[in-house]
Amino acid sequence: MIDQARQAKQAGADLVEVRLDFLAEIPSDADLTQLLTSIPLGVIVTCRPRREGGRFSGDESRRLGLLRAAAKAGAEFLDVEMDVPEQSQPGGQIIRSHHDFSGAGADLEAAAESMDASLSAVNKLAFVAPGPEDALRAFDIIRACNKPTIALAMGEAGVLTRILAPKFDAMGSFASLVKGAESAPGQLTIDELKNLYRWDSINAETFCCGVVGCPVSHSMSPAIHNAAFDQAQVNAVYVPLPVQPGADNFNRFMDALLARPWLNWRGMSVTIPHKENALAYVGSDNCDELARAIGAINTITISPDGSLRGDNTDYAAAIDALCDTMGIVREQLKGRSAAVLGAGGAARAIVAALSHYGAETTVFNRTVSRAESLADEFACKARSIDDAGKIDAEIVINCTPLGMHPNTDACPLAVIPSCVEVVFDTIYNPIETQLLRRARGAGCKTVSGLEMFVRQATAQFEIWTDVPAPRDTMRDVVLHHLDR
Ligand code: NAP
Repeated sequence: MIDQARQAKQAGADLVEVRLDFLAEIPSDADLTQLLTSIPLGVIVTCRPRREGGRFSGDESRRLGLLRAAAKAGAEFLDVEMDVPEQSQPGGQIIRSHHDFSGAGADLEAAAESMDASLSAVNKLAFVAPGPEDALRAFDIIRACNKPTIALAMGEAGVLTRILAPKFDAMGSFASLVKGAESAPGQLTIDELKNLYRWDSINAETFCCGVVGCPVSHSMSPAIHNAAFDQAQVNAVYVPLPVQPGADNFNRFMDALLARPWLNWRGMSVTIPHKENALAYVGSDNCDELARAIGAINTITISPDGSLRGDNTDYAAAIDALCDTMGIVREQLKGRSAAVLGAGGAARAIVAALSHYGAETTVFNRTVSRAESLADEFACKARSIDDAGKIDAEIVINCTPLGMHPNTDACPLAVIPSCVEVVFDTIYNPIETQLLRRARGAGCKTVSGLEMFVRQATAQFEIWTDVPAPRDTMRDVVLHHLDR
């Protein structure tokens, strides 16, 4: 414990929590004194009973006796559960705590009110949040309390409450020293809090952005956008927002967010499965023409007056990456022939954009009926992917996962036809797919999905901040992640 406390200090912690209930043996008073005096930081001593999710299964008077001994040994704070009568509390500065694992959180606000009226120095509430909209209650509670308060939502949906605590002047947040050593679900490491989410730079003026999707835990977007905010010195933070599938869940989340204008929420990246739900929520009148035609957006921007705007930076990123490589502007796609492999979400955005700018496009797909309905919608042609060898186009764009990690030997084209001038693979892992290698070997210009991925993020950054995006930094973050 002493060694870990030293590491915590080095990592930038202000306090450490000593969980006596995690010890195999109850320490003697002398051991407790030695422990607390050897720790180079202020200490919160906790001995959580099983009834509140802890590990202490002994007698209650023994437990409170241990806390009393910890107070005498110099603990800065003692965490005492709110069901312990105030007259039985040990002396010292008390963090009065309440843990709700039910997921319903029926009495949270009442519990906070009662704690706030007690003699304790600090209020602490931790509750399981089924969705990020439930987690937002933590901020309502911190704002309503009159004394230093820690309110945290446990679980993946509550991660934003751990990151945004300094924005609401919460007394603090808890972090683990390393991955796997979390004391509650959803806890981040101190390195993530300090370096990825820039804890020390978050304050009342910080504006918030995030990525809405399911799943979002492996999204690179928090790393990319937070690094960009840091590099461009923008006072903003970007958090993961795991919203379960379904328009109802998406709408409930957005309603809860917009009902709290003091959150200062500026923008949202939207990913699978909510891109269509996002367009429906924002309203097609508030989205650009092509986003409307695609029927999906990946970017929401919230104005200070609460009005919403939707953008689809996916199509713009893809088309601009292609045009830049070809040395043309979007309008010069008119009359160019293009073959799009695949008819899913990525293909839809790209086919809509190619068609909008007048390219003569053929969709090749495994399920031909899907290619046909996409082609019907955007006035292009449809063929089976089995005919891909007979491609007769200047531009080839792969929107299938063929060649994506870990199946990196797969390739949608055995041979690159001689008419092809440029090949764009939307896959970004690996950066150079088998298809791009073959295309390069055949003398074609090539575009990697990395370019599209970075551009959709830089466009979002610029929409939200009005500041030029630090593209190199953002690209480096993606490369670093892919390297790992
Ligand atoms: P999606 O909606 O699931 O569509 C997948 C498409 O690939 C469908 O047309 C599907 O054909 C086809 N397909 C899947 N497995 C296949 C196989 N074994 N052989 C032949 N065709 C196959 O996925 P998506 O969201 O469009 O994503 C597609 C690709 O785009 C992914 O590789 C992804 O990495 C890439 N992408 C890149 C970016 C970026 O920023 N760079 C952004 C989005 C997507 P059926 O219709 O027959 O099922």
